[in-house]
Amino acid sequence: MIRQALISGGGIGGLAAALACTRAGWEVRLFEQAARFSEVGAGIQLGPNVTRVLQDWDLAGALAEVAAFPDRLQVRHAVSGQALGVLPLGAAMLQRYGAPYATVHRADLHQLLLAQVRERTDATLNLNYCLARFTQTGDAVTVQGRVQSGEEISKKPPAWGPQIEGDALIGADGLWSPVRQWLLADGPPRVTGHLAYRALLPQSRLPEQLRSQHVTAWLGPRLHVVQYPVRGGEWLNVVGIVQGRLDAASSADLDNWDHATNAQALRAALAGTCAPLQDLVNAIDTWRLWVLCDRPPLQGAQQQAQGRVALLGDAAHPMRPYLAQGAGMAIEDAAELGRALGQALDPALDVPTMLARYALNRWQRNAQVQARAIRNGQIFHADGLVSWGRDAALKLLGERLLDL
Ligand code: FAD
Repeated sequence: MIRQALISGGGIGGLAAALACTRAGWEVRLFEQAARFSEVGAGIQLGPNVTRVLQDWDLAGALAEVAAFPDRLQVRHAVSGQALGVLPLGAAMLQRYGAPYATVHRADLHQLLLAQVRERTDATLNLNYCLARFTQTGDAVTVQGRVQSGEEISKKPPAWGPQIEGDALIGADGLWSPVRQWLLADGPPRVTGHLAYRALLPQSRLPEQLRSQHVTAWLGPRLHVVQYPVRGGEWLNVVGIVQGRLDAASSADLDNWDHATNAQALRAALAGTCAPLQDLVNAIDTWRLWVLCDRPPLQGAQQQAQGRVALLGDAAHPMRPYLAQGAGMAIEDAAELGRALGQALDPALDVPTMLARYALNRWQRNAQVQARAIRNGQIFHADGLVSWGRDAALKLLGERLLDL
């Protein structure tokens, strides 16, 4: 008997889940509210824990075509410019973990997963389909969504589509997940008080001395900046994260996490930092702004899966970006989901048991990574004595401290 998974959301998590479920022998119907599959223009770092999964899915070659593989991560003090520590990546990571450390444009990673789903699976992908009604019984889960025609923007809400039944529902619908609200009713995510300014540009547009093929993290009081190459090293991704809040008018639009912004506030926050860092930021004209939100970790496996419904990616564990593992955890979730659903041939296992196993094997790992991301942010943004201790420890312990 072939079972059917319904997936809410076609971001990196939803597409990874579609791949994993089809590889496990399930039929997949995926629903994405947007009119087309896309990702925002920003970079993403993928540790060997994630590239190993992509290797298992035969995506190593496709990743190599679009990613960069920096040879080291260097940490510098944002104010003094002093080098604080270096972690070898490149060959060192490959040798140690059997998988590389990659940096990639989010749209390229998303596209790579989408191409794999389209070309190598029978998954049905539905665009303009915003799931909003959910019910489950002992035998099935049913969803219903509003379907935008895609042709004209009407003032009326889009019409309801038909009810669709499946054996399992995977909520991969991100930070504001409607599936999560149906399951947990725990309200909106929390505003962290941190703002991310990001830029992505061809390195050829920068003066030679500002181009870079390494990951560099600049740590300063209440801020840090990370830069790394993507697209085979031809483009540079820069993210500056500063502690601060937007005014009420701008924060009304929180769920649009991709604001155009001028760089005045970032430049003001970086006043007093070293010249190379200011030169980099001043050389870039176009910045986008994310208001960073997260949620506290789930309290147990029963919150990540209930009956025939499971949460995956940011829907389950939206986290601060200080460990660069949010999408990584979504991809790890998908791999574990595939393992759990692959047990479908065992007649003793029903769908709720498979999803409960998935959740049991994931929730603590996700909670730990969420907690470590918060701790990392505190270390990155340390001031005064604490930052002195951090810098001394980085110099003393070097890569042992950096190897997260
Ligand atoms: P999303 O990307 O949010 O996808 C959810 C999808 O669901 C969207 O396409 C949405 O349109 C759709 N959807 C929502 N509601 C509905 C509905 N009702 N019906 C149908 N569709 C719906 N992670 C890393 O691994 N490495 C990094 O270096 C890294 N850097 C980061 C830097 C910053 C500044 C930030 C903010 C995040 C970073 N992350 C990083 C985290 C990463 O971006 C996210 O964790 C990841 O993109 C989450 O993917 P997702 O598919 O779970 O959710």
